[in-house]
Amino acid sequence: MHAALMWTINDFPAYAMLSGWSTKGKLACPYCHMHTDHLWLKYGRKYCYMGHRRFLSRDHKWRRNKSCFNNETENRDAPVPLSGNDVVQQHASFEQETFGKTRKRKRDDDNKWHNWRNKSIF
Ligand SMILES: [Zn+2]
Repeated sequence: MHAALMWTINDFPAYAMLSGWSTKGKLACPYCHMHTDHLWLKYGRKYCYMGHRRFLSRDHKWRRNKSCFNNETENRDAPVPLSGNDVVQQHASFEQETFGKTRKRKRDDDNKWHNWRNKSIF
């Protein structure tokens, strides 16, 4: 018998479990991946995610509006999603975390370029 998973409908935390891409931290967005626009809120002690204007069309009036946003114009293009080959290459270059309480987690978030936590069986 052969089986295929056609699609899943799930929330964001379940997406992280299924895909292996952690939806926490600086690089939480699986669509923007390494180009996730994050900002650390010092007093809230959490990340927030900005830069949504880069998904607008190049001539959208909100891209030039400084005063309603972060006092900057938005000139960046939307990030390009990862292709299947990109995902395979990234999977080959990281070591899957071991599960359980036997090992302390490494805190190397400052120089991370991906947010993969495990290699999905899908
Ligand atoms: Zn994103």
